[in-house]
Amino acid sequence: MNHSPLFYQAGTALPEVSHADGVRLWDAHGHEYLDGCAGAIACNLGHGRRDIRDAMLAQLDRVAFTYRTQFENAPAVALGRALVELTAGQLDKVFFVSSGSEAVESALKLARQYFVARGETQRRRFVSLRPSYHGSTLGALGVTGYRPLEAAFDALITASLKVAGPDFYRHGDADDASHVDRVLAETRQAIEAAGPESIVAFVLEPIGGASTGARVLGQRYLQGIRALCDEFGCLLILDEVLTGVGRTGDWFAYQHYAITPDLLATAKGLGAGYYPVGALLARTDIVDAVMAAGGFQHGHTYAGNPLACATGLAVIEAMQRENVLDNVAARGRELEAGLAVLQARFPWLGDVRGRGLLWGVELVADPDTKAPFPAEENRFARITALARAEGLLIYPRRTLDGVAGDHFLVAPPLTIGADDTAELLERLSRALV
Ligand code: PMP
Repeated sequence: MNHSPLFYQAGTALPEVSHADGVRLWDAHGHEYLDGCAGAIACNLGHGRRDIRDAMLAQLDRVAFTYRTQFENAPAVALGRALVELTAGQLDKVFFVSSGSEAVESALKLARQYFVARGETQRRRFVSLRPSYHGSTLGALGVTGYRPLEAAFDALITASLKVAGPDFYRHGDADDASHVDRVLAETRQAIEAAGPESIVAFVLEPIGGASTGARVLGQRYLQGIRALCDEFGCLLILDEVLTGVGRTGDWFAYQHYAITPDLLATAKGLGAGYYPVGALLARTDIVDAVMAAGGFQHGHTYAGNPLACATGLAVIEAMQRENVLDNVAARGRELEAGLAVLQARFPWLGDVRGRGLLWGVELVADPDTKAPFPAEENRFARITALARAEGLLIYPRRTLDGVAGDHFLVAPPLTIGADDTAELLERLSRALV
């Protein structure tokens, strides 16, 4: 009998966590787990970091909380500067929040206010991908393409125009370029039918995260979307809540693809599990237009508090000091190679894709037809349970809207070493038999 007052989506009883260190956690029964998914792709530096703790304690001793309309605070300014530098100044204004959903929500509202400030009030609709996940607040849910999450709220959300992104596993194969061009042409048609003058922004993850099992969209597609946004006069909002702050091998995933977004939402890895901190990064002229028209009508109480920002700053400084991006590249290659070996052994691992330390494995009932497992088989849950029994945490998702098969993410802390990467692959292989 579970007497816990807490409730979650799944409602299953879970063992209590005892403590954690590096890439490992222990439960109250003494079982040890290797964290193959950084919690929810958030604990990017692993657990028990003394340097992060020390920076947080030093800030706690100074001042933990101030409100943004009453004081400027040095950690917020320093973290803002650091984030702008990570974009090489391409995005040079920062608005802090406390979660990924808030970061996306802020991007949507800033984008809309920008067009209101310019007198283009007819721009009120967003475009986004199906499947996708952009957060659980009602605005972020409006651009999310995932029916089970949307269904109960249809009457309460303003749904975006949903379009399909490229799917190289099912449709690309021999001729990726023509697949991308076909997808872009369909997107153009959908926007033209809806009226390009009604669109505020296109919202997407540069590499699909949890919703698609790390589906890589690629340079041709992303540059095509950037060009469509420019042509139609709408903004490009990138959701880098999951991919940002080093996860894919560069500071932000868009930096792989020679594009620049107008707005970028990031969170998870910024606080690295030590404190909730997220940020909206924006082009100056967008922010200036909104400020000139009376200011951004949006904000959250805990946004940008000194403790949150001192934590984010300590995370970025630690990553720079330890050249964590080099580790992402090296361990990412090992993970990619190891997953390819497993795929050769287990044909039902239909597709392995990703970048840096973000890898998705799509599970298929038939590797020839690429037919997904029937939803009622709950493959995603079974594989997660088997991995857990082997002492490995992975991040699962079930078939989404019949578009992708069941899949799981392997996305360990960015600081994982070579031995632990090998151990991760070994435990995964034992879970697959
Ligand atoms: N966007 C993406 C791409 C995400 O992966 C998530 C979290 N899984 C969110 C937004 C929402 O972030 P949060 O859970 O911090 O609100």
